[in-house]
Amino acid sequence: MKKIGVKRGDVIAFCGENINEFFIGILSTICCGATVTTLNVMYSEDEINHVLNISKPSMIFGSEIAFKRNLGVFKSLPFIKNFVQLNGSPVERGIQTFSSLLLPTDPNMYEPALEARGDDTAFILYSSGTTGLPKGVMLTHLNALYTSEVFEHGELNVVDKSCYTLLTIVPWYHAYGLMSTINNVLLKNTSVYLSGFNPLQYLKCIQDYKVNVLLVVPPIVVFLAKAPIVGKFDLSSVNKIWCGAAPLNSETINETLKRLPNCEGIFQGYGMTETSVAATKDINKDGVVRKPGSGGYVLPGLRAKVVNIETRERLGPYCEGEICFKGPVIMKGYANNKKATAEITDDEGYLNTGDIGYYDDDGCFFVVDRLKELIKYKGHQVAPAIIERVLLQHSDVLECGVVGAPDELAGELPTAFVVPKPDVTLTERELLDFTNERLSSTSRLHGGIIFVKEIPKNASGKILRRVLKQRIAEM
Ligand code: AMP
Repeated sequence: MKKIGVKRGDVIAFCGENINEFFIGILSTICCGATVTTLNVMYSEDEINHVLNISKPSMIFGSEIAFKRNLGVFKSLPFIKNFVQLNGSPVERGIQTFSSLLLPTDPNMYEPALEARGDDTAFILYSSGTTGLPKGVMLTHLNALYTSEVFEHGELNVVDKSCYTLLTIVPWYHAYGLMSTINNVLLKNTSVYLSGFNPLQYLKCIQDYKVNVLLVVPPIVVFLAKAPIVGKFDLSSVNKIWCGAAPLNSETINETLKRLPNCEGIFQGYGMTETSVAATKDINKDGVVRKPGSGGYVLPGLRAKVVNIETRERLGPYCEGEICFKGPVIMKGYANNKKATAEITDDEGYLNTGDIGYYDDDGCFFVVDRLKELIKYKGHQVAPAIIERVLLQHSDVLECGVVGAPDELAGELPTAFVVPKPDVTLTERELLDFTNERLSSTSRLHGGIIFVKEIPKNASGKILRRVLKQRIAEM
């Protein structure tokens, strides 16, 4: 990386599924003191344009799949000067390959870039926060180190301090996948990773590698609880499951535990990209009562409060309000967006999560609802604003509003309410085809389209998403 000129102040983009080269490239880049920005390999052209115009990287490392899908889009961005293909054979003549950069080096001679400072931005990850389009979340080296430190002093190390095998299915473009795998590397544990979910391969992986810890999102826990095929594999090595990114209920937890004989528990972390990853954690220390289904306790060094949504007054135990955090895992801010950074931060310097919840007498947090627009599909972020922008590009659409419809497996399914223009004949199929072409697989309208006469709005024209959600609940 140093040889090709990567240095402090540079922004380097990585777009790919979970593959070795992706992770090695990321670690090498932050060790040079540069900033890494990660993209979901399935992002559409629109999404790529939007996020890369926030971070403006000078170089992009892409997997074969990423370059096959979108090299043209990357090349159309004037600030990207260099293209390196992470794996496979070059999709175009002249594209530099990652393997050509690998030099025989003596690891003992390696020196990290000492000029990198704690508050330098190590990562720019994308999140829509509490409203609108995705923004670039700047996470510093200190954010990452603190996150890792907190995990180390937590109870993630269940089998042996230095040797357990963790299987992750969580994508590395997302804070949860990225931070947890960096942490596992720092702890010198073995990481087994998959770049996508295939039931047979997943279960075989646990059996063959005698995996002790599973790092998952809720749909995988639902699969472990319900799929008949699970009983055909030896999963006795599984000692613990960590689950995050979206809510998980205690019935699913109990059902899963019945099928995993040696699993001591399914632990949850709750947080968001803007809190580096987790802000609360369902810990397992002596004397601390675990509350399955809860988000857990606030991480050491962090402060939390729950406030009344209208008055912003602090609330006591068992009172539902917006959860807010302050402390060393909170992002530096949104890249090139002071307005959005100010909007998500309150007068006391707390980050407003946009989540509704409460804490109990023991300080254990429970997340009950989402105030913000964000939809979580299989743990992936889906910003309604991105889908609405695409819907409005269709010449027959007058107005629209997108919300999540509850779904047992996926958590939520992005669903659109659409008002067609007068006197047009617009079908759901036609509009689905139109949006599918322009949206990543996660952001598609998996919940379908509901045609309506009007979209409920408040006096200032803001879509009343709660009313739309209510309509789905009544259907
Ligand atoms: P992301 O930035 O993609 O990690 O998304 C963060 C959001 O996912 C949070 O603000 C919550 O709405 C939701 N979330 C993450 N973890 C949990 C959890 N354990 N329980 C409930 N919601 C969660």
